[in-house]
Amino acid sequence: MTVAEGSKLDAPSLARVIRGALPGDRARFELHEPWLGDAEREHVLACIDQGWVSSAAPYVERFERELARVSEVRRAVATNSGTAALHIALLLAGVRPGDEVLVPALSFVATANAVAYCGGVPHFVDCSARAFGMDSAALERHLRDSAVGQRGECTTRRTGRRIAAVIPVHVFGHPAELDSLAELARFWGLVLVQDAAQALGTLYGKRPVCHGARLAAVSFNGNKIVTTGGGGAILTDDDDLAERARSLVRTARRAHPLCVSHGEIGFSYAMPGLNAALGCGQLERLEEFVERKRAVARLYARVLPDDCGASLLSEPDGARSNYWLNALVLERSHASERDALLECFHASGVMARPAWQPLHTLPMYQDAPRAPLEVTEDAASRIICLPSSSFLAESGK
Ligand SMILES: *Cc1c(COP(=O)(O)O)cnc(C)c1O
Repeated sequence: MTVAEGSKLDAPSLARVIRGALPGDRARFELHEPWLGDAEREHVLACIDQGWVSSAAPYVERFERELARVSEVRRAVATNSGTAALHIALLLAGVRPGDEVLVPALSFVATANAVAYCGGVPHFVDCSARAFGMDSAALERHLRDSAVGQRGECTTRRTGRRIAAVIPVHVFGHPAELDSLAELARFWGLVLVQDAAQALGTLYGKRPVCHGARLAAVSFNGNKIVTTGGGGAILTDDDDLAERARSLVRTARRAHPLCVSHGEIGFSYAMPGLNAALGCGQLERLEEFVERKRAVARLYARVLPDDCGASLLSEPDGARSNYWLNALVLERSHASERDALLECFHASGVMARPAWQPLHTLPMYQDAPRAPLEVTEDAASRIICLPSSSFLAESGK
């Protein structure tokens, strides 16, 4: 993102311009609304007619197959939330109580919470100024300064705790620097777990972000590009990990024709069939959703004047972002005007929102270990997310 500093920011006129880009027939534009149609209705009714609505429903396997296919990964295991998927992915990555896990400070809280569920400690790292994903160069500097890599294990100099994993997040649907992060993870002996909650349909190079992933998590919450009402999935190219995930989300129940018995402490995290049926309808439309969301991004780009004191975040080179959320980035000198601008947006029915409060400033993570976080703190103070629902633009426009 390049921002020419020095322009004046006129909040009411900026709000008018953005409102003007959106369809005229609505009074209010939420940040992200689901878009459900006939395909979803038919699948949900078929699911009810089958009588299988729980996690034992055939629709769950069907959804998992479809999801694995569009993600170009061998296996998908559907869960009842994206957070649950991330929790299981981290357990499978071998995160144990007391381990640290590298987490971007600019993310939704679930990324850090999933680490805490494992008894681990999130170790916050900075984002890049270009696309707000984890900054691999800054991370490399930080590890050199503060960690020791020995015999395939990485420990911190300060606490001696093991750093077990690293979780890149594809912020706003723009792919993180996966190649360099994967190389860093290999060098330091960290397991890379993708938090791809926002990035279904995003291509890194020419392939879906989770293509070939050892461990990744996606979300189907109501505000994601594809929704199941609520839900998520663990994606993996490893059949053994997929079997372990499948067992763990289903209370680790042992296969037995008669007895109910469990081999370890599992979780009740499986996705119900009704949600999977809705998801089957949504997945059929994924490409259309991506095309339309990219058209929403073009709509905003077309109307935003040069020299208005803000610019739009665009996808990194060599990627096809799903533009899950369009981000308006204010010039640094206008950070203090962010909330006044938000009020102007809301007054005109544009329910824009700031980025997440950086995770290291939340009460439960205030004492968590961290790298220098200047870019995160600066970026979070001047990002405004704009309404980005798929139906706001027609594809091709
Ligand atoms: C949505 C999201 C999740 C998971 O959310 P659920 O609501 O549990 O499905 C995790 N990480 C990020 C970055 C997200 O945006």
